[in-house]
Amino acid sequence: MESILCLVHTDSNGALPKPAFEALAVAKDLAAGLGGASVDIGLIGADVAAAANAVAAAGARKLLGVSGAEFGQARYATDAAAAAALVKASSATFVVATQTSRFARVLAGVAQRIGGRIDTHVTGVAVKDGAVVVNRWYYRQRMEATVTRAARPWIIAVDPGCVKPWSGAAGAAKVEAVKVELPEVRTQVAGLRSPSADEQTIRPDAELLFVAGAGWTKKQADGQTHVPEAEKLILGFLHASQASLGGSKSLVDASGEGEAVLRFMTHLNQIGQTGATPRHQKGLATCCHGEEPHTVGWRFVTERRAINKDAGCGWARGKADVLYVADAFEVMAKVNALLKK
Ligand SMILES: Cc1cc2nc3c(=O)[nH]c(=O)nc-3n(C[C@H](O)[C@H](O)[C@H](O)COP(=O)(O)OP(=O)(O)OC[C@H]3O[C@@H](n4cnc5c(N)ncnc54)[C@H](O)[C@@H]3O)c2cc1C
Repeated sequence: MESILCLVHTDSNGALPKPAFEALAVAKDLAAGLGGASVDIGLIGADVAAAANAVAAAGARKLLGVSGAEFGQARYATDAAAAAALVKASSATFVVATQTSRFARVLAGVAQRIGGRIDTHVTGVAVKDGAVVVNRWYYRQRMEATVTRAARPWIIAVDPGCVKPWSGAAGAAKVEAVKVELPEVRTQVAGLRSPSADEQTIRPDAELLFVAGAGWTKKQADGQTHVPEAEKLILGFLHASQASLGGSKSLVDASGEGEAVLRFMTHLNQIGQTGATPRHQKGLATCCHGEEPHTVGWRFVTERRAINKDAGCGWARGKADVLYVADAFEVMAKVNALLKK
């Protein structure tokens, strides 16, 4: 009989991140597809009580927890030991986990420790003709594959943003504490260092992705560049809309070439073949040409619009649902004025 462990970790504030509820939704769907397999929930964090309460109504067979100060921060030695202990305590044949950056670093090692197999960046799980089938994309999101395996335990790391998160009322949950034998821990987390951006502009949970292209820093009709104005318009829009900021490769590379740049734009903002493939509901590209290596990163953005002065740009060739042939400086100034109202 198959059984499932939904493996999640808390945020630094003790709450579960949104991807944890998505993994839980996948685990519960999988259990239903398998004809009512049991679901355990495994929690890792400094204190997992609040997280357990948040999933009290999920109908888990057991709530297993590894907690303590040493599990409050991401660290390979402690996270891998905690995850392996939870899988063993549950004896699950499937482990549905969140592909957060914290777990992405340890889950392959956990598969090795428990003698299992792993598939990462999974975008969907289904049961077909009695077999569990997972979906994932290869070659920078150009090819979709379905994978099935006989080996167990099978760790399935689900990419955030692919499914509707589970939701239910909070309650009073009882957590079964799982003991972990830790090896000598040599790594101490001294703190976090953020990229040299003036502020946080990457918001994976935002409904809208706003993408800036190199056009913002190019000479405009008057023969001059207008980078300070571009910065003001883009930041003004981000503040008002709480959109996430993406950039084209040309724009984020410009900083390394000593050209006029948007100071808040880093390589972490890059969307595309060699950048990120985010999953926002809507996307608005501005001053960006819509080249294939860029737009392949838009694979999972559902509604796409672009603003470009060039009616023959890449967006016009099937890459966007709507193309506004207009000056992005003028359009965004007007949009910001409307948002202010
Ligand atoms: C192997 C490989 C991998 C790559 N990976 C990526 C990747 O991950 N991500 C990525 O982005 N690119 C990637 N590229 C590069 C990609 O091919 C393009 O060169 C790049 O995306 C172009 O950036 P851009 O559209 O911002 O700039 P440009 O091509 O310079 O386009 C600027 C656009 O701005 C418009 N514009 C200018 N002023 C205005 C205005 N006032 N109002 C409105 N529009 C205006 C212009 O009409 C123009 O279309 C890759 C290329 C290769 C070869």
